[in-house]
Amino acid sequence: MGLFTSRKTVFVDSDILVIGGGFGGCGAAYESRYWGRDKKIVIVEKANIERSGAVAQGLYAINCYMGMQWGENQPEDHVRYARNDLMGLVREDLGYDIARHVDATVHMFEEWGLPIMKDEETGRYKREGKWQIMIHGESYKPIIAEAACKAATAVYNRIMVTHLLMDETRPNRVAGAVGFSVRDGNFYVFRSKAVIVTAGGASHIFKPHSVGEGMGRTWYAPWSSASAYALPIQVGAKMTQMENRIVLTRFKDGYGPVGAYFLHLKTYTENAYGDDYEATWYDSIKQLVGDYVDHQPVPTCLRNHAFLEEIKAGRGPIRMVTKEAFKDPHKETVGWENFLGMTIGQAVVWASQNIDPKETNPELIMSEPYVMGSHATCSGAWASGPEDYAPSDYQWGYNRMMTVDGLFGAGDTIGGTAHKFSSGSFTEGRIAGKAAVRYVNDLGSDQPRVDETELDGLKTMVYQPMENYAIGRNEIVAGTVSPSYLLPLHGLQRLEKIMDEYVGGTSTNYLTNEPMLTRGLELLTMLKEDLPHLGADSLHELMRAWELQHRVLTSECVTQHTLFREETRWPGYYYRADHPRLDDTDWHCFTLSRYDAESGEWAMEKAPVHHIID
Ligand SMILES: Cc1cc2nc3c(=O)[nH]c(=O)nc-3n(C[C@H](O)[C@H](O)[C@H](O)COP(=O)(O)OP(=O)(O)OC[C@H]3O[C@@H](n4cnc5c(N)ncnc54)[C@H](O)[C@@H]3O)c2cc1C
Repeated sequence: MGLFTSRKTVFVDSDILVIGGGFGGCGAAYESRYWGRDKKIVIVEKANIERSGAVAQGLYAINCYMGMQWGENQPEDHVRYARNDLMGLVREDLGYDIARHVDATVHMFEEWGLPIMKDEETGRYKREGKWQIMIHGESYKPIIAEAACKAATAVYNRIMVTHLLMDETRPNRVAGAVGFSVRDGNFYVFRSKAVIVTAGGASHIFKPHSVGEGMGRTWYAPWSSASAYALPIQVGAKMTQMENRIVLTRFKDGYGPVGAYFLHLKTYTENAYGDDYEATWYDSIKQLVGDYVDHQPVPTCLRNHAFLEEIKAGRGPIRMVTKEAFKDPHKETVGWENFLGMTIGQAVVWASQNIDPKETNPELIMSEPYVMGSHATCSGAWASGPEDYAPSDYQWGYNRMMTVDGLFGAGDTIGGTAHKFSSGSFTEGRIAGKAAVRYVNDLGSDQPRVDETELDGLKTMVYQPMENYAIGRNEIVAGTVSPSYLLPLHGLQRLEKIMDEYVGGTSTNYLTNEPMLTRGLELLTMLKEDLPHLGADSLHELMRAWELQHRVLTSECVTQHTLFREETRWPGYYYRADHPRLDDTDWHCFTLSRYDAESGEWAMEKAPVHHIID
């Protein structure tokens, strides 16, 4: 304990605090500086900003680029695309806002040194698909992070934010955040006039396919631990579409992405007997979702559904036909480079399993569910829309401000806007940063204040797992099971099992119903009762303990939303067995939740989906 008796409290004051230095956070810091030359802008990051976030190992494509300079797509087209893929339910105001600005973001990335592949004949960016452009992206994140670091007044790396702080003078107004250094154990108090949460989405809330020593091998980054949702939820921000979890078709075991293969290499799938299976499920899908199955492109969840049904019919595994494409040396190079720039693990898995895609068609699999707001799903916080475009009931102040004053978000944090990806998340960060500067300017002398006594309580709570361990450890002589504390890993496995078995994970074929969800909530409540007894033997484990806290609260929110929406809107992502059909009469709406930390109760409501674009 010697080290931690000298644990210091470090106070950091700022105008704008950015929590999470990923794509959204970097965009937020960059744009805040542009509009707020005199502002103190602080980024706090759990890892190291240079290589932090979901895709810090690099990317091969920027998945959201309109190409307006060449008349390739217009922002309205992207809204239609996202709306179609999400079975009708997106915040069109927010999506349009990103789409109209995203090209400018990508052009800045190129100016900053990001190599973007060009079509030699036309000089245009090389397309992988209608929305994707190809990059040499190993250094994508460091390039973007450099711009953010130059823009920020200070970057605090290796600090995990655990709680937001609320203003003591005015209810429902944010005043900063607290966290701890995972390196020296100091307690950090960030007092700030505005806060932008950009802490990524959530992996490991559902049990992954790989468990035990392989549990880190998931599609989504294992360090994306739901802080983006838990932090706003804790302070009563409204959340939306949290039931809309994502399930992805990926290469088995390595989770290598399939997009470039389908789009660029023109590969296709077949069942174990070499048959094209998707069309055979058309009639049954039509019965479930009606005309949505006729939309082009076919929504992602419906393609997932056909895949899952084919496996259930006993004709799996599903394979991707790579043998033909890999005969072309150019395509073979592209296929391998696609992994080497982004998912080296897939190449290693294939090597270890004797799979040469030129000789063997590799297996595909449906991933476990994840929660995120920037990929093909749109879970997240309910945010105010752009002043010039959002309908009045989507507007209550500043663009991208949540229902808590001064609390903004971007990227995976903000709900209702799927298909933003890296460039769209950065763009949304820029939008939030600009609005946050205006919010701070408008505050004038009416500044938030932090309650000092609240800080003492939070400090005790944050380090409690280390105290629990220090005392409880004396009750055992060996092993890891103690009568007095629960280790974060054990808590995580308990959480994953509950979510998997009751809330629509892989072991029930993504299926759930009202009784299962109700039981899941009971078990989550029991898990929550045990969380004050978490034990941490190190700062690293303390981080794991708080990641678990964030995951559990987010999981509860996901479960509440799944229970509330009495239909199966996205077959292939999850199924409400007791409401197996899409129901546009009652459920063509957003679901909203609000958590009351005092009572532990959740209030659920519907919000209208406004179709702004025809
Ligand atoms: C596997 C995968 C593949 C993808 N492929 C592509 C692609 O090919 N092309 C494309 O354009 N997009 C792709 N994306 C999407 C893109 O990565 C995301 O849209 C983008 O990273 C979201 O930005 P964000 O800021 O919300 O989250 P992130 O970029 O993940 O950043 C979140 C940051 O918050 C930090 N953080 C988390 N919790 C805390 C805390 N409690 N305290 C402090 N800091 C915290 C994290 O360390 C991280 O740095 C992919 C995403 C995934 C998961």
